[in-house]
Amino acid sequence: MITPGEHLSRILAAAQPLPAQRLPLTQARGLVTAREVTSRWPIPLFDNSAMDGYAVRRADAVPGARLRLVADLPAGTDADPHLGPGEAARIMTGAPVPGDADAIVPLEQTELGTTVEAGMPKSITVLTAPAPGAHIRRQGEDAPAGTVTVPAGIELGPWQLSSVASAGHDQLWVHRSPRVAVISTGSELVPPAATPRRGQIPESNSVLLSAALAGAGAGADVVDVSWVPDDEAALRAHLATLAVDAVILSGGASVGAFDVVKAVLSSLGILFDRVAMQPGKPQGFGVLPDGTLAFCLPGNPVAVAVSFEMFVRPALRALAGHTQVERPRVTRTASVGWGCPPHRMQVLPAVIDETFVRPATSGGSGSHLVSSLAKAHALALIPAETERVHEGETITVMVLS
Ligand code: AMP
Ligand code: MG
Repeated sequence: MITPGEHLSRILAAAQPLPAQRLPLTQARGLVTAREVTSRWPIPLFDNSAMDGYAVRRADAVPGARLRLVADLPAGTDADPHLGPGEAARIMTGAPVPGDADAIVPLEQTELGTTVEAGMPKSITVLTAPAPGAHIRRQGEDAPAGTVTVPAGIELGPWQLSSVASAGHDQLWVHRSPRVAVISTGSELVPPAATPRRGQIPESNSVLLSAALAGAGAGADVVDVSWVPDDEAALRAHLATLAVDAVILSGGASVGAFDVVKAVLSSLGILFDRVAMQPGKPQGFGVLPDGTLAFCLPGNPVAVAVSFEMFVRPALRALAGHTQVERPRVTRTASVGWGCPPHRMQVLPAVIDETFVRPATSGGSGSHLVSSLAKAHALALIPAETERVHEGETITVMVLS
């Protein structure tokens, strides 16, 4: 038996970031930067006003002073009017501050003179003296030209994309997202809405894996989802049709007489191990001759859910270029006690709140307890050497949402 950590290390050693491509901002959401993005110019680009108000010479702008308005500066203007003694310019937020001005007096801190022509006052009276540089956003104060605004290895969400645009780019280098195929194996599987005859069960692993792959920061493109009966030739033939970065199989990975995944994938160089965890002991992983990563998960739906979180999701994040591949972990207090399998790490679908953790099922941690999945939003990680969790103990929890 190997530990879950050993299995994950083997997987991550093989999961290198996919090649980079240059994409428009509109197609980059959710992808990971392959190169750092630097600003083409200082941010802000020029000294500009943070308020609607008046650009003044501070020496003149004492309380009660009446200043003559010699210019009107809307956002977008390129004017740089000269301001003489006793003169000011009306200025709107974002407009460039005249070189002669050294502060902005906000509208609210002035009184308009009586004469107004075409909506523009001729003069204002200053009510409050501005501090030096008041309400001026200085050129480069956020970042000088050439600053790295987004480093490599960062997932592009709305905030990062806006930062790239502000830095003067409409395209950037990102890692390709992984193309993934999902294969469910088992001659007992029927569509979810079918009425199973004795021995048949509704297929659910491809539903779980497709949804998990597309969401939750795995960021994969699921390009092929299929079911294959327990038939070696059918599985071989289907595998040969795939052109993907990773294939995720479930079922048939153990030592049973009809475990065709193990039979076929072993012959293609995939290694099958017993991993010291519950659920999810039988695991296969390796790189197929064409470079595709192959994950062979056990068939039980809870084992698939757990294996995905422990091994597949981190690997896909690595392919996508993420540097942080594992979920955040927190600690919670056990609100009940429960039993644990000897010598295997227990990875238990769990319910958490701000303080407590408890199993999502009252019936233990069997890999067939599918209905527990619908309630769980975390995985409790209980070390192999623990034989029983006691109420009140501190438990490490992987948070799934
Ligand atoms: P196996 O690893 O193939 O022996 O499967 C273990 C258990 O998981 C069996 O009870 C299977 O019927 C069940 N199982 C396997 N594949 C699926 C699937 N795609 N959806 C739901 N249950 C499955
Ligand atoms: Mg099977």
